[in-house]
Amino acid sequence: MRLFLALEPPETLRQQLGELAELAQARCGGRRMPDDSLHLTLAFLGEVAEERAAALAAWVGERSIPAGEWRLDAWGAFRRPGIVWVGGQTPDPELVRLHEALWKELAAFGFNHRPGHFVPHVTLLRRAHHLETRGLPSLDLVWPWRRLSLVRSFTEKDGARYATLARSSSA
Ligand code: ATP
Ligand code: MG
Repeated sequence: MRLFLALEPPETLRQQLGELAELAQARCGGRRMPDDSLHLTLAFLGEVAEERAAALAAWVGERSIPAGEWRLDAWGAFRRPGIVWVGGQTPDPELVRLHEALWKELAAFGFNHRPGHFVPHVTLLRRAHHLETRGLPSLDLVWPWRRLSLVRSFTEKDGARYATLARSSSA
């Protein structure tokens, strides 16, 4: 099964992000991420066998992560897959630390494909026609995070669907 580690936004923020996705779609086109799919990926694990997935779920469920706050104040785009996202003007140091700490621990599970470059972001649009984000409204949102989620991604005809398999406890 296809898995990744992520942070899930609190409900109020999820709605605010959904509204931004709406605005962005009106301008940039493409496919809007459904509200309940909005997330921040910390580590993409790819295809994982069932037994290993169960061990990962237990590991996530038994741990806690330090709490933090992520400031979302920038629009961005990834050209090749046509992604429009929101994130920080610079990578948030706390998230970068969390990303690094997780990948160190993931090595114990045999995951060694940590990406060289981590840009914390929340994807709002896929296959956008326009990647110009300059005219979009400025934003300044805060994402208080405290729990890590292990998420399964199912490939469906109209895009991926996600299901949370485990969450860490609150710090
Ligand atoms: P789809 O690939 O079907 O369009 P998706 O990208 O939402 O949908 P996944 O590919 O399963 O679904 O990815 C799950 C999460 O992991 C997404 O946030 C995605 O951006 C991220 N991700 C996928 N592949 C990588 C990768 N190689 N490196 C880093 N993050 C990745
Ligand atoms: Mg993908």
